[in-house]
Amino acid sequence: GLAVRQYSGVAAAAAGARVPLGLKKKGLRVVVTGGAGFVGSHLVDRLLARGDSVMVVDNLFTGRKENVLHHAGNPNFEMIRHDVVEPILLEVDQIYHLACPASPVHYKHNPVKTIKTNVVGTLNMLGLAKRVGARFLLTSTSEVYGDPLQHPQVETYWGNVNPIGVRSCYDEGKRTAETLTMDYHRGANLEVRIARIFNTYGPRMCIDDGRVVSNFVAQVEGLMKLMEGEHVGPFNLGNPGEFTMLELAKVVQDTIDPNARIEFRPNTADDPHKRKPDISRAKELLGWEPKIPLHKGLPLMVQDFRDRIFGDHKPHSV
Ligand code: NAD
Ligand code: UDP
Repeated sequence: GLAVRQYSGVAAAAAGARVPLGLKKKGLRVVVTGGAGFVGSHLVDRLLARGDSVMVVDNLFTGRKENVLHHAGNPNFEMIRHDVVEPILLEVDQIYHLACPASPVHYKHNPVKTIKTNVVGTLNMLGLAKRVGARFLLTSTSEVYGDPLQHPQVETYWGNVNPIGVRSCYDEGKRTAETLTMDYHRGANLEVRIARIFNTYGPRMCIDDGRVVSNFVAQVEGLMKLMEGEHVGPFNLGNPGEFTMLELAKVVQDTIDPNARIEFRPNTADDPHKRKPDISRAKELLGWEPKIPLHKGLPLMVQDFRDRIFGDHKPHSV
């Protein structure tokens, strides 16, 4: 991985080109597992836009071809229908490992499959990264903090997770994925990055996602800064703006329908009571923070949902 990265810089410099540092390096071969999903497809857009060759590895469990269809015919884009639980041989410089259903409705659907995806899938992608010397980025989750006893959550907090609950396939799966990532880093000298993403919303989110919103897909920029930077992490990527569910319901009313009725219902099992990221580390070391407040982001997502429900299937970028 590193050799190729340096080579492209050197080659461009020799040709007299001005090569800005950071996100402008050209010609990387990047794998995005889960690249047909909500966050992954936005990431794929950005990587292709900056000139990388992108291979999406996705089994289309929760992802949709429509999310990446606009790249069909682009010679720098390839979609491989593949389940990360099975090994795969590819030649690449960077791996963004996102493959995993993210919404409770999806990850609870087949819990054993979810934990296999997190554990065996992550192991396979780490094995691939080791074989070809690629840099590996894991998209972990705020769920590793469980129902946190510390508020807000800093990356050094170890969390409060139920190991035997209905959410454990996801929470413990991601915790094991983080462990594997650090063990390959320490044991095989692999270059790794870990992001802990907090609930994200935006265009292309599954219409039946069912999660409450908190943070817009600007996350993707944070993932790229993390991949290109020199810090392993973990980094919290989320919006520290805190609101109650009732406050959120009112914003939704204002955005969609002032007459929508608010109903109170019992919560699902093990749902964290309160969560808010401390993002000092991401601000300081990645120069990243979320930019879109809820009242601005929500209308964009609502428009995307309306377009998809009422017929206009063009993908939206942010
Ligand atoms: P998503 O469900 O839209 O995307 C996940 C993608 O992974 C889908 O395209 C799906 O088909 C694919 N996938 C699932 N299992 C697979 C398997 N076994 N093999 C190959 N592909 C598989 O979810 P998302 O919101 O885009 O989340 C992407 C990543 O970010 C996930 O790893 C998730 O855990 C993490 N994350 C997301 C959020 C969020 O709020 N969206 C929060 C925390 C962490
Ligand atoms: N692997 C893969 N693609 C590769 C290299 C490895 O899918 O290019 C898988 C491999 O099948 C194994 C896992 O990654 O299940 C871990 O590989 P590693 O070489 O680290 O461990 P080992 O194969 O020695 O157990």
